[in-house]
Amino acid sequence: MQQSDHSENNGNDSVTRALTVNEARNAILKSVECTCATESVELINATGRVAAKDIQATTAIPPFTNSAMDGYAIRSQDIRSNHPFKVIGKSLAGHPYEGTINPGEAVRITTGAALPKGADAIVIQELVTVDGDTITTNAKVSAGQYIRKPGDDIQPETTLCAAKTKLGAAHIGLLAAQGISRLEVFAAPTVGVFSTGDELLNPPAKLAHGQIFDSNRATIRSALKNAGIESVDLGICADDEESIQSIMNSARQFDFLLSSGGVSVGEADYVKSALETNGALQFWKVAMKPGKPLVSGKLSGDTHFFGLPGNPVSSLVTCVQFVIPAIRAFCGIDYTAPPVLRARCLDRLKKEPGRFEFQRGIMSTSQDGELVVSTSGLQDSHVLSSMSAANCFICLDQFADGASIDETVKVLLFSALDGL
Ligand code: AMP
Ligand code: MG
Repeated sequence: MQQSDHSENNGNDSVTRALTVNEARNAILKSVECTCATESVELINATGRVAAKDIQATTAIPPFTNSAMDGYAIRSQDIRSNHPFKVIGKSLAGHPYEGTINPGEAVRITTGAALPKGADAIVIQELVTVDGDTITTNAKVSAGQYIRKPGDDIQPETTLCAAKTKLGAAHIGLLAAQGISRLEVFAAPTVGVFSTGDELLNPPAKLAHGQIFDSNRATIRSALKNAGIESVDLGICADDEESIQSIMNSARQFDFLLSSGGVSVGEADYVKSALETNGALQFWKVAMKPGKPLVSGKLSGDTHFFGLPGNPVSSLVTCVQFVIPAIRAFCGIDYTAPPVLRARCLDRLKKEPGRFEFQRGIMSTSQDGELVVSTSGLQDSHVLSSMSAANCFICLDQFADGASIDETVKVLLFSALDGL
């Protein structure tokens, strides 16, 4: 989403100052190049993948003139009220009538069946009275009625999908209709995910006082999976710089390495310094809430690194706002800002000026058809339950001081965001 309150200048101060959300995303996208190898996959397995080359049609679709309805193929100039037509045969889908229709003749026809020679229109079966092998109709029938012409969907040599198109069901269908069974797509990126924190455990361990189960790894990997991105689980790393560095060193085979936790300015926050030792820091502060500390950079070699914040909502929001767009850009998909809706806010929303806020909300349509939004609960960065209850972000600009009841606010539906 575009914010009105910042410049797009991302100068050398990006390492010290907090970037705006757009500055941070633009800086990340600029640093990601689509260097994916390509691979040939079976058509159905290309779903959600990105076409590596333009794909042209070789066949017109439909390939032959055919009926759009179940009925009778006739010559439109023969139509007169209650004039009888002699039914001389049938043309079924896959079983064309090979003869020619002469004056006063009709051929029974089904949807998708080839139009017999001589016919130029279909009279639909609901408007016909059948008496043995004779039909009559009062219907008005004009030439071309209910006829599908060759190529009215796809002409040969048109581009079915351009390189860098993310392939959805309709693209797969267009390719299948051409008889294409394999195609070249960009290879899937490799992504490793680990958590940092001495307090974190994996089940079935029993929690001692002061310990929690690691939820960020599952949340982040789930968001990636939801966006069609597979990842490798690299486990939990202790809060010490050497252990973090050793994961960074052994993860150079990944295109992306993601961590969570250890990025604020606490005593045990070593991710930023580990990255500075093992690569280059791009920035580490974004003026947003949740998610202010976000370490972005590159490990020496070609691995992109993101140190996401530890708080569960912050790690999910930053993953969706920055990491998924970056991985998609790496796979050749250009970033497009999701549509921003406007809704009437039913609650008073609290906010301090200074950071752009993604507040968790529930949007619905009122009985009058108006879009309305309410808060989904506590907005603290550790409160994942209000994220799971939400269906949208209420976007509050950096210098806004909240929103009042009935104010129109900007809303991003989760369904428009990859990963959620
Ligand atoms: P940190 O940024 O490491 O100081 O973590 C901030 C907060 O997020 C702390 O309350 C951590 O316990 C919590 N946290 C960090 N990593 C995780 C994780 N993987 N799962 C759940 N909570 C976490
Ligand atoms: Mg920590």
